[in-house]
Amino acid sequence: MNDLVRLGTILLLPLLTGAQTAGVGVFMQFESAPAAASLEVMKTEVDHLLKASGIEIDWRLVKENHGDESFSRVVFLKFKGSCKSEGAAPPPNDFGTLGETHALGSTQVQNGRVLPYSEVECDQVRKALSYLGPGAGRKERQSALGRAMARVVAHELYHILARTTAHAAVGLARATHSLEELIAPEAPGFASAIEFNHPDVKTPEQ
Ligand SMILES: [Zn+2]
Repeated sequence: MNDLVRLGTILLLPLLTGAQTAGVGVFMQFESAPAAASLEVMKTEVDHLLKASGIEIDWRLVKENHGDESFSRVVFLKFKGSCKSEGAAPPPNDFGTLGETHALGSTQVQNGRVLPYSEVECDQVRKALSYLGPGAGRKERQSALGRAMARVVAHELYHILARTTAHAAVGLARATHSLEELIAPEAPGFASAIEFNHPDVKTPEQ
């Protein structure tokens, strides 16, 4: 329960200019796509987390992109590993030692600028399913995985849309969250978030 996950490995970036109020095109690419139910839960949860910011997401799949749409900004999300909730959950002792951190997602950074390219490590995110009760059914597992993916995605979108590598002490912009929190039906630790202009996120991390 004390395991921490690191949400924001910084790799590189350059920001697109443009309004950050609406119409952000988020293009997804999956190595192993999640169930439709997980994907819908993920979209709904991200939309919910970003709602206070006024940002609206237009969800798209990279493979369905025909280049004939325009967006205020464009973000690319690559989901690595398996995003499926089926199959054996990793054993509890796979969480590492106390205080060990696992990167769940990363956003590219180049010359100090955040690029609109993020990756989500689904094999790591799926470990959060071990926190479900033993009687959790397929539907519950799919929903939980969708919530976990959403919270990782929202965190990376925060870096991109706020154009910052900084983290805050609280909320979605916090650098670490517990795996258990990732799947919680209600997660105030994320919901307080998305204040993109909050002074806490103005100081670049070192
Ligand atoms: Zn981060």
